[in-house]
This record gives sequence, C-alpha cells and structure tokens, in this order.
Amino acid sequence: MAKIIAVANQKGGVGKTTTSLNLAAGLAKENGSKVLLIDFDPQASLTVALGWDNPDEIEATIATLMYESINEKDIDVEKALVHKEEFDIIPSNILLSTVDTMLVTAVSREYRLKEILEEIKDRYDYIILDCSPSLGMLTVNALTASGSVIIPVTAEYLSAKGLELLLNSIVQVKKRTNKELIIDGILITMYSENTNVSKYVDKLLSDTYSGKIRIYKTKIPRTTKVGESILYNKPVVYETNKAGTAYADFAREVCEEW
Ligand code: ADP
Ligand code: MG
Repeated sequence: MAKIIAVANQKGGVGKTTTSLNLAAGLAKENGSKVLLIDFDPQASLTVALGWDNPDEIEATIATLMYESINEKDIDVEKALVHKEEFDIIPSNILLSTVDTMLVTAVSREYRLKEILEEIKDRYDYIILDCSPSLGMLTVNALTASGSVIIPVTAEYLSAKGLELLLNSIVQVKKRTNKELIIDGILITMYSENTNVSKYVDKLLSDTYSGKIRIYKTKIPRTTKVGESILYNKPVVYETNKAGTAYADFAREVCEEW
C-alpha cells in the first residue's frame, strides 16, 4: 500500500512543484520505488515541467477524475494515468479550478481525492501530491487523502512566518477528516549559504519547531540549475550538481525514520 505524501504550503513560489517532482524522481531512482506523481494544482506547473506544453488540451486529468467522483460517476483512473519510464503521472489543468468551486457544495467534499486514490494505492510504494498554493478545498482534499505532509519553506522571513496558517489547517484536518495525518517535515528550499536571511530563517525554524516538527537536515540550495532543468524537462535530481545532490539526499532522508 502506498505512502501518500502531500507537498503543501499555501504560499506560492516556495518550491512545492520542484520538490514534488524531484522527490518522486529521487524515490524512484534511489530506492527503485514505484511512484505516482499527481499534479493537484489548477496552474499545472508540474504538468508543464513534465513536458506538456498545453495542459488545457489534455483529455483526461485529475480534474476529470474529481469531476466523475463529485457527480457519482464511475471513476476511470486509467484514462488519466500516464506511465513514464521512471514513474507514473496524473496531470492537471485549469479545469481543476472549476472542481474547486464544485466541491464547495458537494457531499463528502473533503473525501473525493481520497476516494480516487483508494482505487490505485495498492499499485504504488509512494503517491506524491503537488498541492496548489491555497488552503481551500483542493488542499483539504489532498491532506485528507494523505498519510503525511511535507512543507517546503523558502529561506525568507515571510515564508517562515506564514507557516502557522498552514499548521492550523493541518490541525483542523487532523481533527475532522484525517486523524492519521502526520507532518513528515519542513524542507528549507532556495537556501543561500552565507546570507543573513537564510541563517536567520534556519534559526527561527529550529527555535520554533525543534523537537516538535522534523526539519530536514538537507537544505535545497538556490541555483539556476533548477530552472534550467525544467526547461529541459529533466528533474534536477538526475544530475550531479548541488541542487541535484541535495534532492537525492532529501529523498533518502524522507525514507528514514525521524
Ligand atoms: P511552488 O510550486 O511552491 O509555487 P515552484 O517549485 O514552482 O514553487 O518554484 C517557484 C520558482 O522557483 C520556479 O520558477 C522554480 O524554477 C524556482 N525554484 C525552485 N526551487 C529552486 C531552487 N532551489 N533554486 C532556484 N530556483 C528554484
Ligand atoms: Mg507549484
């Protein structure tokens, strides 16, 4: 049965998509695990990073499956699943924002993604969910379907400060829809060694959460290689530069007990 991990933070631009992609690729490569990577953001940046130039032209996406679930139709997961050599993918597109609106009035609205994943979770070791930058119904669905959540945080003051909101949402989900949910940890991304703000954020996070929430030892350095790798549709974790090595270390750390 798959370990389902949501990569979440309501703040945009903190490295959720980059982390989801490289964690999926890293787990598949380092561990030989069977991995499914799901784009759960209407902005579909993961889908684009995986090589689809026009996500809105994709016939079946995670939005299609959510739509089927909400409308009590048979869910045909297979048609949205794309099998790649390294790992499987379910893409997304803008229709997922319509689903977000539909969920507001749907019955069992928190459990729709969970229902979809029930059908396929036996096939994988890991299912990674790249969440959208909001704390709305889509993220609640992701957190309700997951066993754990990884929180990427940039080495910027406001990014670290915004964590409390997300942690509150996680507490709510734990109370209401998913008692089993745990926080896997906080991942510091876009870290620039030797800058005061990076050091400050590092210290702020460990002072605030040390002993309560795992802060991954691995920090992802800020480097232009990350953007370049997306241009070439190749996860940076396959390369031997600093960011690639860091993501490989991170994938290994995710497999270790805290
Ligand atoms: P999110 O999904 O949280 O919005 P992304 O993963 O899309 O964040 O990252 C936001 C932007 O920052 C993207 O342009 C991405 O290429 C860039 N980025 C992500 N990680 C790094 C990094 N370690 N170094 C430099 N740029 C990065
Ligand atoms: Mg993203």
